[in-house]
Amino acid sequence: MKLTIVQAANKKQKPDENYLGFGQQFTDHMFTMDYVEGKGWHNAKICPFKNFSMSPAAMVLHYGQAIFEGLKAYKSAEDETLLFRPWDNFTRLNNSAKRMCIPMIDEEFALESLYELLRMEEEWIPGAPGTSLYIRPAVIAVDPFLGVRAGKQYLFFIILCPVGAYYKAGLKPLKIYVENEYVRAVKGGVGFAKTEGNYAASLLSCHLAHQKGFDQVLWLDGVHRKYVEEVGSSNIFFKINGELVTPQLEGSILPGITRDSVIKIAKDEMGVNVREEHISIDDVWAEHRAGRLEEVFGTGTAAVISPIGELSYKGNTIHVNDGKMGALSSEIYHLLTGIQYGTIKDKFGWIAKVK
Ligand SMILES: *Cc1c(COP(=O)(O)O)cnc(C)c1O
Repeated sequence: MKLTIVQAANKKQKPDENYLGFGQQFTDHMFTMDYVEGKGWHNAKICPFKNFSMSPAAMVLHYGQAIFEGLKAYKSAEDETLLFRPWDNFTRLNNSAKRMCIPMIDEEFALESLYELLRMEEEWIPGAPGTSLYIRPAVIAVDPFLGVRAGKQYLFFIILCPVGAYYKAGLKPLKIYVENEYVRAVKGGVGFAKTEGNYAASLLSCHLAHQKGFDQVLWLDGVHRKYVEEVGSSNIFFKINGELVTPQLEGSILPGITRDSVIKIAKDEMGVNVREEHISIDDVWAEHRAGRLEEVFGTGTAAVISPIGELSYKGNTIHVNDGKMGALSSEIYHLLTGIQYGTIKDKFGWIAKVK
């Protein structure tokens, strides 16, 4: 497929790298591609960043047939543009597409188009420590039609935004509210897909937790309200008696690329045993009582590792590692971010250099 390039006539002023925040400023260009049933994906182009025009009847606006991804480009000390396992993001996008009845994309073409977009927007990749360029691919159904069925027309787009260091004020462990009323996902549902409705469904619970003074919500399984699933929109790990335990993937949990990387680093690089299995919230409390719950952390592209210092469940609160980030969490954080920024050798073949 041909990729058409339309240059922006005017370039925006780049933001101050020290005050970037997250998801507010967008680069000069974006990638878009259309799909029509019978014709397939076509009209791939990189064009100036601009508003979309669509019918108020566009299907995505009514039934939420939409999927997305999130990854980052990092600037190395040698001024190279590095991506972390980007092929896995496009594979996951297609897995989400299958579940949501969205036509698959050509992963290789999408990746090549992203590289081209990044070459054009290279000056937008911030270089200050901990900063990066966040990449948001998404697919939405755009047919102007109010019947409930899978769309026949889609729009795939990729937008970019420079983002600040997640931990500007240092890694402050999170206070977590264990949610026992609302659930995020159930087995057989769409929890494993990065689809818009999952995030809309999580908002009320997060809002209520914030009001109670917590940073995030820990989700339990939707059937027994017992087994730990995720924390906010991150995967979760427990260090128990020297080993790492993380919930196994069974359809309700998003298969995080950071989660998978942490498992591989812990096993292959640090010789730490990792168990992917059910862990109930009662087990977590029991391990804490026994003095074996050493560290808890979330994993995801945005923060990489989010240490958890406090958990509260049905009015009972436990403190983890005196509310400080644990040694293993720190070590994994430094190893992973070191690989991502190119300061630590990438033994795993995770890094793509955009040339
Ligand atoms: C994106 C996401 C994650 C983390 O995935 P990464 O690939 O590590 O960024 C975890 N949970 C949910 C619900 C997510 O949407």
